[in-house]
Amino acid sequence: MLLPAPIQNVIQALSRLPGIGPKTASRLAFFLLNAPEELVGSLADSLRELKIGIVQCQTCFNITTAGRQECEICASSERDPGLVCVVEEPLDVLALERMGAYQGRYHVLQGALSPIEGIGPDDLRMGELLERVRLGGVREVILATNPSMEGDATAMYLGQQLARFPVKVTRLARGLPVGGDLEYADQSTLLRALLGRQELG
Ligand SMILES: [Zn+2]
Repeated sequence: MLLPAPIQNVIQALSRLPGIGPKTASRLAFFLLNAPEELVGSLADSLRELKIGIVQCQTCFNITTAGRQECEICASSERDPGLVCVVEEPLDVLALERMGAYQGRYHVLQGALSPIEGIGPDDLRMGELLERVRLGGVREVILATNPSMEGDATAMYLGQQLARFPVKVTRLARGLPVGGDLEYADQSTLLRALLGRQELG
């Protein structure tokens, strides 16, 4: 069946999203076609604003509102600057913040080491982390990369890099589902992993 270009374009764009196959994309496109103007309009507007309204925090590389130099966590005097939790993605920050038990700051690497995908140390915000530690004021770095092969390799690499600084380096305790993402871990598991974190040998 030949579809008019406007709907084909939407189907094509939606199929590029993670977890959305051609069937779901078609269903969503037809849903939007029949949805009230107001819903479709606000979806289009919010998508457009997503790209212009969000920037990276210049300290921790979490996302923040455009126009801000630092995110709210880095700018907050109530968050302990001596404690830095290193995560892969902004969604991991969200997962840890949902716990409500962590009072330190973050560093978002923007990924993990992956030789297969050609992602090396220079592709991640590792240099910036080392620089943060080098400048002083950091007592402990908590490596909270995902409990996956890439996450473990990233933590190990960072542990080696951080060994030359007078800083305590810890890794989240085991117990998180292996191969899973931090963002999918339930809050009590995450809290246990944080509280039970162990110093890297
Ligand atoms: Zn920040």
